[in-house]
Amino acid sequence: MQRRGGPMGGAFLTEEEKANQPKVTKELLVRVFSFLKPYWRQLILVMICILAASVFTLLPSILTGKIIDEGLIGKNLRALVIYIVLSLLVTLAANLIGVGQSWLNTWIAQHITFDIRNGLFRHLQRMSQRFFTSNSQGDIITRMTSDVDGVQRVISDTFANILSNAITLVVAIVAMYRKNWILATLGLLVVPLFALPTRKVGKTRWTLTREAQECNDEVNGILNETMSVSGQLLVKLFGKERYEYNRYKDVSRRMIRLNIRENMAGRWFRVALSTFASIGPMLLYLVGGILLMQKDSTLTVGDITVLVSLLGRMYMPVNQLLNVQVDWVRSMAMFTRIFEYFDMPIEIKDAPNAVEPQQAHGNVTFENVSFSYESSRQILKDISFTLESGHSVAIVGPSGSGKSTIINLIPRLYDVEEGRVLFDGIDVRNLKLDFLRRNIGVVSQETYLFNGTVRDNLLYAKPDATEEELINVCKKANIYDFILQQEDGFETVVGNRGLKLSGGEKQRLSIARVLLKDPALLIFDEATSALDSISESKIQEAIDPIIESRTSILIAHRLSTILAADEILVVEDGRIVERGQHQELLEKNGVYRLLYETQFGKERTVQEMI
Ligand code: ATP
Repeated sequence: MQRRGGPMGGAFLTEEEKANQPKVTKELLVRVFSFLKPYWRQLILVMICILAASVFTLLPSILTGKIIDEGLIGKNLRALVIYIVLSLLVTLAANLIGVGQSWLNTWIAQHITFDIRNGLFRHLQRMSQRFFTSNSQGDIITRMTSDVDGVQRVISDTFANILSNAITLVVAIVAMYRKNWILATLGLLVVPLFALPTRKVGKTRWTLTREAQECNDEVNGILNETMSVSGQLLVKLFGKERYEYNRYKDVSRRMIRLNIRENMAGRWFRVALSTFASIGPMLLYLVGGILLMQKDSTLTVGDITVLVSLLGRMYMPVNQLLNVQVDWVRSMAMFTRIFEYFDMPIEIKDAPNAVEPQQAHGNVTFENVSFSYESSRQILKDISFTLESGHSVAIVGPSGSGKSTIINLIPRLYDVEEGRVLFDGIDVRNLKLDFLRRNIGVVSQETYLFNGTVRDNLLYAKPDATEEELINVCKKANIYDFILQQEDGFETVVGNRGLKLSGGEKQRLSIARVLLKDPALLIFDEATSALDSISESKIQEAIDPIIESRTSILIAHRLSTILAADEILVVEDGRIVERGQHQELLEKNGVYRLLYETQFGKERTVQEMI
């Protein structure tokens, strides 16, 4: 997904943002405010700080009038000193309040985003596998990081800025009117004179920058295409040198024009700003002077200075407030995206009357189960089988036939569409998820190890396991010798996702991990990837006794695993097409025999040779 601009990503909305403006409904606002609600006391304090800081920041401007009228023109040293000291103290106070306010702002923003982030994490953790397979990891991470950070900036900066600008404006306007209504009105009339051109030039510049950026992308695209080995080969063999050169030249020429226009827009911007910025004060001096020179005028030089100074203080807040709409739309878009995730229903959760039996035995029954990931294609069709406690079932079949899908339904990574999956005689949908998953151990094809030590990875299954238990399971999984050979033993770091270990070592480590969990039912999805024969036999030595002694379901690709199971289910195109023992299946001369001859055949030849 294309990255969206944050609240600081430019003062104007892009076409895409305009088109995707979220609908601001009452519900959305209520929801946004529900996150602020726990911190209402701190928020009121922030508002008081902002109010005080804004007033205190403007006070020195007002005091300047007193310094001029009473101190300088009145030649009163005492008043002069008092007002100067007062002015300095007020400035200091405004700054100190500003520091406090920033701290408080940040504190609130951090706490609110802490709540949002944790809430989102909890919610996402409860989402089904379907969510994680159909959403890109990048998008999930963007929402968890950039969008939440964006919301944090909205609360800590945007919100405070809007408030402080609005207060500054109101205070400045009130102060100006109290001094002189004619000059105040004049001052207000000139505000649009500088605010609007600033905005117009800003927009032109922004559009030009974007166009230049697009042009630049095009240049890079041409370079990428033509300057690569295969690209150049194509250009040469088709004699397209001149064509490519012209293409490059045209874009470069467009770029020149854009860059010049962009630079000049910047130049005009500064001219406009400084001209309009000085028109206001000059007008005030002129009209103020005329009023001052009238006979019965109460206006003073100080008053005019105060008015000019206050007008100067209005430029920035007006400009920033003109951008409020942009900030607002972006903030609402960010909240909307976050809420979208919060609103995604939790597909797989405990039923209200879910039960948790005292003990698990590991019996599994599939009753006419059908399932599809997407409605357009049915993956499993009418699957039925029973696995008694203490026995084992091997599932075999061509790649993509639905073997992994069958086992995914047992720990409820997905729910069936039709039929039932029973665990110890109870529909898995009526069992507590925690109980179900605690009693099922899965060694998947894609072994996932965390970046930590061997010990960390093992203890993930049972945090309070003793050293003896660790050694015991590692011996059973045939990985103990390997661990002993490592300089750091159990403290050996496995690297990111276990990349420092070989495929076979990772598998054996994950077998040890699942043995530590000691589940009632063990599911083993045998890796299809080729391992060398030594690794294979080590895994085989590890799993054979496990299959003998535990209730297990195996997705088998190797003959020895298949032979160790009590029953073999042959799956093809989502259906169980054959079932039984090795010998009888061979005699059927069907799918199993074909698989045996193509897939397991090589192994057989090797075994026969030995
Ligand atoms: P292999 O032996 O290659 O692991 P398999 O028999 O275990 O294959 P499954 O992984 O169960 O096959 O997949 C069965 C079918 O379901 C495949 O056609 C696959 O494309 C499809 N499939 C698997 N996972 C998903 C998913 N998350 N979303 C949509 N389709 C999926």
